[in-house]
Amino acid sequence: MSAKILYVEDNPQNMRLVRKILMSAGYQVLEAADGLTGVAVAAREQPDLILMDVNLPDINGLEATARLKASPQLAWIPIIALTANAMHGDREYCLAAGCDGYLAKPVMKNELLSTVALFLSQASPYAEAGYR
Ligand code: MN
Repeated sequence: MSAKILYVEDNPQNMRLVRKILMSAGYQVLEAADGLTGVAVAAREQPDLILMDVNLPDINGLEATARLKASPQLAWIPIIALTANAMHGDREYCLAAGCDGYLAKPVMKNELLSTVALFLSQASPYAEAGYR
């Protein structure tokens, strides 16, 4: 069964590009165009991994990440932040908000796929719950 990846992104071009890359690698792709939709889709679909744009039209990606990480049912899902603002300190903001990883835009195909594969290999809904 292929992994299910949610991509939260308001830019249609970025969405198209990343969807194409992920689908070419055999992943299922779920989409959300803003932060609140992203949180709702994550809760409903329980994706294996989330790619999170930081600049979104409603709540930003860091706030959406914080909400997901506050949920015991969703906190295990790895979240990789994607941002165009590759400013100094961005990585720290993302990680402080609870993101598990960070990729600067523009996204490079090989970097995206290797990062996704790495986090998928480590993630498990039972990892933090200890198989209770
Ligand atoms: Mn954006």
